[in-house]
Amino acid sequence: MFESLSDRLTGALKDLRGKGRLTDADIDATAREIRLALLEADVSLPVVRAFIGRIKERAKGSEVSAALNPAQQIVKIVNEELVGILGGETRRVQLAKTPPTVIMLAGLQGAGKTTLAGKLSHWLADQGHTPLLVACDLQRPGAVQQLQIVGERAGVPVFAPHAGTSVGGEGDLGVDGSQAAVAVAQAGLDEARARHYDVVIIDTAGRLGIDAELMKQASDIRDATNPDEVLFVLDAMIGQDAVATAQAFAEGVDFTGVVLTKLDGDARGGAALSVREITGRPIMFASTGEKLEDFDVFHPDRMASRILGMGDVLSLIEQAEQHFDEAEAQRTAEKISQGELTLDDFLQQMLMIRKMGPIGNLLGMLPGAGDMKDALSQVDDKQLDKIQAIIRGMTPEERDNPKIINASRRIRIAKGSGVTVTDINQLVDRFFAARKMMSQMSGRMGMGGNQRKTN
Ligand code: GDP
Repeated sequence: MFESLSDRLTGALKDLRGKGRLTDADIDATAREIRLALLEADVSLPVVRAFIGRIKERAKGSEVSAALNPAQQIVKIVNEELVGILGGETRRVQLAKTPPTVIMLAGLQGAGKTTLAGKLSHWLADQGHTPLLVACDLQRPGAVQQLQIVGERAGVPVFAPHAGTSVGGEGDLGVDGSQAAVAVAQAGLDEARARHYDVVIIDTAGRLGIDAELMKQASDIRDATNPDEVLFVLDAMIGQDAVATAQAFAEGVDFTGVVLTKLDGDARGGAALSVREITGRPIMFASTGEKLEDFDVFHPDRMASRILGMGDVLSLIEQAEQHFDEAEAQRTAEKISQGELTLDDFLQQMLMIRKMGPIGNLLGMLPGAGDMKDALSQVDDKQLDKIQAIIRGMTPEERDNPKIINASRRIRIAKGSGVTVTDINQLVDRFFAARKMMSQMSGRMGMGGNQRKTN
C-alpha cells in the first residue's frame, strides 16, 4: 500500500532538490503536486485542504533552519505534518488499574475483527498477559466457531455460548440477539475475573452496512462491560467510505482507538490518512495480512517516513540539526567566501560531521546510496583518521597558513603523525584545490558573509 502515494510525494519533493532558494511559486507548485497525490490516494478533501494549508504556511513562513537547505526543510515540514495527521505520538493500549482490562472490538462485517481478536490476543500473550477471547458475534453464522479456531491458533482460550443454552441462536437478529450478546459479554467478564485472565477481548457482531441496530447492540455491550478500550476495526481497502463509516461508529458507539486492517492490499491509503483527523481518535494497530504475525503497533512517525520513502534521509536531517552549530557555520561560510579557510576550520568541519556517526553510515543514508554500496565501502573512517592525525601534527601557524608548509616541514609532520610525505602532499594539494573551488562557488552563488549558508 501507499506505493503510488509514496512515489508521487517523493517525485514532488525531488524536484526541489538542488534549488538554493525556493520562491513562493516553487512552494505553490510543490503543494499542488502533494495535493493531487493525496486526493488520488483517497484522502478526504477537508483533510487534504487543511494539510496543504499548513504546509504552505510553514514553508513560506519564517521557519528557517540554518542546518538544512530549502528542499530539506520542505521534506521536514511535510514529514512532520504527515506524522501529525497520523496521530503524532504512538498510542499504547490502556491497561486497567484493576484487571481484567476490557478491550471491545467493533466494526463492519468483514472488516477483520475476528482475525484481529486472534492477533491482538497472541500479541498480548507474548508480552506475558493472559487474555481471554469472548465471542459476542451471535449473528453471523459460524462467527463463534471462527473465533474458536482463531483462539486455538493463537493459543488463547475462548469463552463462547454453549449450543442450546438460553443466550440465543446464531443468525438471530433483533432485540433478543442483542440481549444475548450482552449476556455473553457479561458472562465472559465474570469468567475472566473468576479465572484471573488479565485481558478480555470482546469480538462483536458487524453488519454489511451501518444501521441503528448494529450500533445499539455495540453500545449495549459497551455499557454493560465498561471497556478500557473500544477499538474500531476499519478495512483500509474501503477507500472513501472509510470516513463515513468511522464517523458513524464514532457517533454510534464511540471508540478509543482505530485498527486499520488489510494494509497489505493495494489500498490507496486514504483511510489511514483521514480517519485520525476526522474522528480525533488515534490509530493504534495495523494489520497487514491473514497470519497471526501480520500485525503491529501503529507508529505515526514510521508510517510517515515510509510514505515519504525517505526514512533515512529524515534521520540524517535530524542528526544534522542536532549537531549543527549555527555561529560556527556562519563563520566558516564567511571564510570560504573570502578564500580564507584554514586547515583548522577544515578539521573542525570534519569533526562536526564525524559527530554524526561513521562516515559510511552517513553517506549510506543518502537517497540512491543503495546502488553505490561498493563505492561507499571505500570511504572509511581510517582515511579520515589519517587526515585528522596529519592536521593535528601541524603547528597552529601551519594550520592557519598552509602555504608555509615546505618540504622540511612536510618531513617533520609525516614523522610526527606516522604517515608518508606523499600523504601530506595529497592532503595539502587537495585542501588548496577545495578551498579555491569553494570560494569560486560561493562567489557565484552570491554567498556573502551575512547570508545564510546553503549546504
Ligand atoms: P469480521 O467479520 O470483522 O470478524 O472479519 P474477519 O476477521 O472474519 O475477516 C474478514 C476477512 O478478511 C477474512 O477472510 C480475513 O482472513 C481477512 N483479513 C482480515 N484481516 C486482514 C488483513 O490484514 N489482510 C488481509 N489480506 N486479509 C485480512
